[in-house]
Amino acid sequence: MTAEVPISCKYESFNTLIKINDPELLLEVFLSQLTPEYGSNIQVEMYEKKNSVWEKNMANGNFTSHFDEDKQSILQHKIDPDKINTWFYQPSQKGWYCAYKPLSSKQYAMFFSTNNAENIIDEDYIQLLFGFYCHQLCSLEGTYRDNQTGLYNRKAFDFRIESLLHKHEMVRRNNPCNPSFFVMLDIDNFKDINDTYGHLYGDEVLTIISKLMNDSFREYDLLFRYGGEEFSVVLMDIDNDICKQVLNRFRKKVENYDYPKLEKVTISLGYTDFNRELSVKELIDQADRALYYSKENGRNAAHQYQDLIKQGLIAHI
Ligand code: GH3
Ligand code: MG
Ligand code: MG
Repeated sequence: MTAEVPISCKYESFNTLIKINDPELLLEVFLSQLTPEYGSNIQVEMYEKKNSVWEKNMANGNFTSHFDEDKQSILQHKIDPDKINTWFYQPSQKGWYCAYKPLSSKQYAMFFSTNNAENIIDEDYIQLLFGFYCHQLCSLEGTYRDNQTGLYNRKAFDFRIESLLHKHEMVRRNNPCNPSFFVMLDIDNFKDINDTYGHLYGDEVLTIISKLMNDSFREYDLLFRYGGEEFSVVLMDIDNDICKQVLNRFRKKVENYDYPKLEKVTISLGYTDFNRELSVKELIDQADRALYYSKENGRNAAHQYQDLIKQGLIAHI
């Protein structure tokens, strides 16, 4: 394919992306790097696939599943959900579709087109842009995901909690999600499972519970493997009653799951209001105190720090 658009790639202009350790911010910066420099020649549309539906990223923190039907159909039918990378030129739309599937359950796609009908975008250029974006996304995923469970790891936890507490995220992208609760959860008597059935079997239980977490919480809730057999969750935009319901429903789901060999596995949970006045340490301590209460009082339970304080069952930290 011949290059007709007079674009020279300024690879250096993407160097700042390397310093960015958040996939969504990476996307924003990627777009902002593109637009001023190549805006008159190239448009980029971003899409994300969640729960098998393609949505268009409106670049203001919002997504919509209502967009051009032709594009909807191409994304749905021509992008293999299992392939890591897909790209092709779509002559009818004079543009390139590039899709990327990182470790997470999401799939990302870009549509590059030019507003000058005579121009065809240089394949090498698209390959370079797209390759660069995938590479960054991939190394982010690798750095911030726990290999065993696919959840965010401790490093991601430290970064995200800090930035959520200090409001960077909301200000940054007009985020419709506000963190409401912070949850710590720990598998009950996990040592016994390891001791009885072996470490490999213990690993299997960890994988199953992580999968149940992924299936149970919404995609904008944040799920972390905090360490060992402990996990944490940030629940977005819910009130006290719903939080209690959601956590207890998940607790029962773990309890009722049909594990191979084992009769049942249970978890204990402790949670607290996501109070932005707190430090990371204070937030963790509060959820931990409630978790400890659950452990001390029969396990297989979910308790809220504020609730326990109100009832006089624990003292303030
Ligand atoms: P409790 O109900 O009080 O939480 O009891 P517990 O046995 O779950 O807690 P304890 O902290 O005594 O033991 C946790 C165990 O989890 C010990 C450790 O060997 C095991 N563990 C931590 N990470 C992993 C892992 O990645 N795989 C496996 N199989 N075991 C792990
Ligand atoms: Mg533990
Ligand atoms: Mg445990």
